[in-house]
This record gives sequence, structure tokens and C-alpha cells, in this order.
Amino acid sequence: MFLTISTTGNPERPATDLGFLLHKHPERAQTFSTSHGTAHVLYPEASAERCTAALLLEVDPVALVRRGKGKGRGGAPDSALAQYVNDRPYAASSLLAVALAKVFKTALHGVCQAMPERAEAALPLRIEVPTLPARGGAELVRKLFGPLGWDTVDAEPVALDKQFPEWGASRYVRLVLEGELRLADALNHLYVLLPVLDDAKHYWVAPDEVDKLLRAGDGWLAGHPERTLITARYLSRRWGLTREASERLELVRLAEAEGLDVDDVDNAVDESTDTEERPVPLAEQRRAAILAALERAEASRVLDLGCGQGQLVQALLKDTRYTEVVGVDVSVRALTVAARRLRLDRMGERQAARVKLMQGSLAYTDKRLTGYDAAVLSEVIEHLDLPRLPALEYAVFGSARPRTVLVTTPNVEYNVRWESLPAGHVRHSDHRFEWTREEFRSWAASVAERYGYDVGFTPVGPDDPEVGPPTQMAVFTRTQDQAQAQDPNQAQAQVQHPNQTPTAAKEEQA
Ligand code: SAH
Repeated sequence: MFLTISTTGNPERPATDLGFLLHKHPERAQTFSTSHGTAHVLYPEASAERCTAALLLEVDPVALVRRGKGKGRGGAPDSALAQYVNDRPYAASSLLAVALAKVFKTALHGVCQAMPERAEAALPLRIEVPTLPARGGAELVRKLFGPLGWDTVDAEPVALDKQFPEWGASRYVRLVLEGELRLADALNHLYVLLPVLDDAKHYWVAPDEVDKLLRAGDGWLAGHPERTLITARYLSRRWGLTREASERLELVRLAEAEGLDVDDVDNAVDESTDTEERPVPLAEQRRAAILAALERAEASRVLDLGCGQGQLVQALLKDTRYTEVVGVDVSVRALTVAARRLRLDRMGERQAARVKLMQGSLAYTDKRLTGYDAAVLSEVIEHLDLPRLPALEYAVFGSARPRTVLVTTPNVEYNVRWESLPAGHVRHSDHRFEWTREEFRSWAASVAERYGYDVGFTPVGPDDPEVGPPTQMAVFTRTQDQAQAQDPNQAQAQVQHPNQTPTAAKEEQA
């Protein structure tokens, strides 16, 4: 089974850069062993004008059977022979997707140290998969790849036997995709959609498969019209997992629909540009203020709500007084960056037991967030539309109800002091609002009053005598055990709480 990836170029931007982006040298044929056979990467052509990388997977059908993983739908299901005689060796099935993920792992994640800007840029790409099993036919192939930004999605049915055209078409198509896309996006499309079209996922679908799917589908799956079919088939119709994936994708879609740029987690106004005046970047001063407030509150189990790329989580983990640190964010991409920053995959067991990253929206109550000492909302509230703010207030102060809540947000009065900020502009394009000190204080006082908390305020950054500090922080301390206020979502009977269903992973194991 086989696929090719081609690009074109010119002497300034040679097509052979593809080799850098794929991390495979165009002048070498390379071989990798995978759990189902041997993968080869070779370049049938490699010039400045045109470069083609081919991925060829030789499947060992006997090994497949031995591993108990050959139960694809490629042969007559009940015949013993079908275990050995099936389409696995030549059809571009889920096995090819697995090989792709292994051989081009770094490229799939969009990482290229040698040419980071090329990895981020769209390239003229042509991808050909000569034998693609297409359960659902050419039409489904077009429906799946069509909405993903390709200029051409050509799915031509392959004849069952060229000698006997009257036998009609087989269930395979020859797929050609052409368009200007980021290489990582193209690879992620294949990684998810090859097994979907094969619809015979060969290996045990593990609970972390949902994470893999969301990661690979970042930026395109949540809004895909065939999302339900893609999710169900990718997860081999394991309904518990499928439901979990659907709910999580729905959160992403909602965030996108609300216009929240879930990728845009870099919260800094040009905070580093004025380094002479402010030797310590504001983000760092904010973290220091938060750490000091948490210490005063004697918190040891802490939620970082809207944790973004995990800088605060990382700082908390360095201090052993914090026995449990949970980062929550709606953005899968932010969480992926956070996991990388924390080196979650390489963490020792004891350290790993202290930290958790979870995807969730703060506009919904979430049982997983109850019972903590403190919650931090650092530069998060201003990313919500004002009408959604009461839902967050209830989720945090009414439902999760930690003893201490720290909320930071920009002080809009200070904006006149940012030289790089044109008058009347917010500091970040995704900020829905920025408050004066007075506005923030009256919001905080009203939340405290409604939910049984006391509140005090701390300036963060230089406290300008006229306009106050760049960042304002409210420190809420719980005074009553029970929440008084009503869930604003309950008021509208229809509103669903996607986070409140039992976790699918547990059901899967049961
Ligand atoms: N706390 C970090 C990041 C702030 S940026 C810091 O101080 O640097 C705001 C973050 O809030 C983003 O990562 C964004 O994805 C997240 N966010 C925005 N709305 C959210 C919501 N409704 N639920 C969960 N996270 C949200």
C-alpha cells in the first residue's frame, strides 16, 4: 500500500524542502519497521521544481494474523482463508495511517526546526493514494475531503478488473488531492480519514484514541459537516468513546461559534517590547503575584482555569507545596502545547500524579472541578462575551466553589501607557472587553455578594498614580459553605451541560 506527496517549487524555494518538512532526506531511501510490516520512504523525483515523497508499506499478512489484528473487512468475513487473503497488503487502510503517523510524526505535528516558517506556510501539494478502500464510495470521499480546503478532490472508482469492465467498479478509488495547504494539515487529514474510509480499524481502540482524534482534527474536525460519521467510524463505533469525542468537539465548535479564537492563546500585549522600563515581563509579574496569593491562601490543590499553554501549571509544579495542579482549557491546541511544555510523556510517575490537563469550557458546570483549595483565572474572563460571564460565575463560584479564587484581568485605564497600543484599542484582538478598576471592582463585589465570598484587590505591575496598574487582581475568599445564587443555565430549561454526562472512558472499561 502506497501514497505519494508531491510539491512544486523554484530555485528560491526549492521543492526539495519537502525533505526537511518530512524530516526525510530526498537522497536516501529509508526503512522503518512498524507493528504490521515495513515502511519505506523514498523519493521518485527530487528537483527544485518538483519533489515527490512516497510512503510504501509492506504489510506482513501473517504477522497481522499472529497479532490478532487482521480482522479487517477486506475478505469474506467467515472464511479462515480471509485471515490470510485480504486487501490489507495493498489497500491504503488504517495500517497506512498508522505508518504515516509513525514515519512522519514530527511533520504531522507541524514541527520543523530547520524551517519553521515553511512548516507554518501553505505549500502547493498533490497527494495521490492509488488504492483507497472507500466504504461509502467516491461520493463519501468527496464529502470528507471536500470541506477541507483542497482545490481538487478527485476520487475515481477503480475497476474490479480492467479485463472485464462489465463487472463494474470495485470498492476502491484512486484519490488525488490538490491544493495549497500546510503539510501538517494535509497529513492530519489523511491520518484521520484513511481509517474512516477503510472503516475497519484493525487495532483495539483505546480511550486515548479520543485525544489522538481531537489532536489530529484540530482546526478542521469540529466544524466538519460529516463530523458525526468521522468520529463514529474513526473510533470503530465504540459508542462511549464516540459520545465523549462528540461532546468535546461540540465544545470546540461552540467556542469557535462564539468567535473565540481557541488557538489564540498568546495573551501578551507587546509586553516584552518595553523591556527597558519593565525589566520583568508583565506575564511573569502576574505569575509571581498569583503564586504569592496562593501561598497566602495556603492552597495546595489548585485549578488553573483557562490555563492556556501551561506556564502557571509549570511554575506550580516546581513548588512541592502544590500537591495537585489541574489545568483546564477549551483549546485542544493550547493543551497540546502545555503537555509538551510540561513533558507530560516523560514525567516520572510521582510527578505525573500531581498534574492533570483537562479540556473543558468554563461556561459549563463541571463536577471534576469541585473540592479544590483554589482556582486561578488568569487573563481569562475578558475572553468571554459579557452575556456568557454569568455562566462562568456560576460554574466557578456556585458549582466548583473553591475556598480561594484569583481573577486577573487587564486594567483598561492603563492602556494609555502602552506606547505601542493605538488609542481606544484593546490589548489583544480576542479580548471581548477590558474594564476600568471601577468596573472590575463592582463586578467582583457583586459576584462575591451573590456567592458568599469576600473580595480584596491587588495591583499587578507598576501602580501608576493616575491610571493604576496594568493588571488588576481580585482575591476571593469563601465565607459561606453553600452557594446562594441560581445557575443561570438552569433558568433556560433547554441548555445542556455537556460536561455532566458520566465519563465515557469509565463506561468503556465496564
Ligand atoms: N491563563 C493563561 C492564558 C490566558 S489566555 C495566562 O494567564 O497566560 C485565555 C485562555 O482562556 C485561552 O487559553 C483560552 O483558550 C481560554 N478560554 C477562553 N474561554 C474559555 C472557556 N470558555 N473555557 C475554557 N477556557 C477558555
